[in-house]
Amino acid sequence: MAYEVISTRLPFVYEALPTRVIFGSGMRASVHDEASRLNMKRILVLHGPPHVEIADVIASQLGDRYAGTFSGARMHTPVAVTEEALLLVAQLQVDGLVAIGGGSTTGLAKALALRIDLPQIILPTTYAGSEMTPILGETMDGLKTTIRNAKVLPETVIYDIDLTLDLPAGLSGVSGMNAVAHAVEALYATNANPVISALALQSIRSLVRALPAIHVDPSNRGARADALYGAWLAGICLGSVGMALHHKLCHTLGGTFDLPHAETHAIVLPHALAYNAPAIPDVIAALADALGVDNVPVALQDVNRKIGAPRGLRELGMPEDGISRAVELALANPYQNPRPLTREGLHQLIARAYNGDLPADVR
Ligand code: NAD
Repeated sequence: MAYEVISTRLPFVYEALPTRVIFGSGMRASVHDEASRLNMKRILVLHGPPHVEIADVIASQLGDRYAGTFSGARMHTPVAVTEEALLLVAQLQVDGLVAIGGGSTTGLAKALALRIDLPQIILPTTYAGSEMTPILGETMDGLKTTIRNAKVLPETVIYDIDLTLDLPAGLSGVSGMNAVAHAVEALYATNANPVISALALQSIRSLVRALPAIHVDPSNRGARADALYGAWLAGICLGSVGMALHHKLCHTLGGTFDLPHAETHAIVLPHALAYNAPAIPDVIAALADALGVDNVPVALQDVNRKIGAPRGLRELGMPEDGISRAVELALANPYQNPRPLTREGLHQLIARAYNGDLPADVR
């Protein structure tokens, strides 16, 4: 029998991300030690509406290192909000940031770090994974731009499972599928490597098992731990290798039709993977093996059903004539993808995602 190479896709380059990670239950209590380790003396705490109380607790834990609070973070990191926070940073002579929240709050911390290079401690409360990436998306005058800069990488990330317990079941599911999408696309990135692929498969296994269990019982600590672990690994994947059709399409759909981030990712993923499947038989085989299923896109759509995700983009309020518009936008802005983009193929993909149909048959 021929020898099967495990470390496929040779040669490869692997670069480790430098962020220090603390993972466990109750780990938010380590925020003071981390602030001290990073020599932060005047800390601004960033948070969103659901985290007023926990932000107060953390502020008191920080003691005389606490300088103030900013709670104005918004989805897609509007530059106007960043500028407002920058004024406060200057006024309070802030020298460090602690952010508690999802991708939107993390985005604000990263936007501030980009401009004034402040050290960041991030306490994620969703599964978006932004805290692990040197990527920042910002919006100005309705236009979203994405940059990659090592300055935005947080110094410390504290994954405290307890902070995810009150993430509502519906949001937990779609946020987790957003993470699954990072890991899936990492498997066929042009700069894929065996280390990241191993993390990606483990991430997908953890999330696909944990998310339906969280939907049944959001207080299931074991499932919450597995989902957060999977989300961390997915964030490493997103931050380490390039993404393709799925992410670019969600970016276009979200930006053009103002669709919610995580829900859009959850709906599109099975269809984008089915589109790419003929060009990536090795990836499909690895995923089928990892998940113990025959048809991977259908299995992922089945997870969507179990977590109660919206069925199609129509349910998110996308107009039907948006299908053709999205096709043209995707074709006008070509990018790296394992299977070349065709007008007909893209139209079918987006129409299926719009209607909530089964993904194209990939067997
Ligand atoms: P989010 O941060 O906007 O949070 C979604 C909603 O859930 C908000 O209303 C928030 O207040 C609430 N919420 C968050 N945690 C909660 C909790 N534990 N309990 C109750 N409610 C809670 O959404 P998100 O999906 O985490 O992040 C999306 C944003 O992050 C987008 O702007 C996206 O572009 C960005 N993002 C960036 C990267 C990157 O690498 N740059 C990666 C992923 C996502």
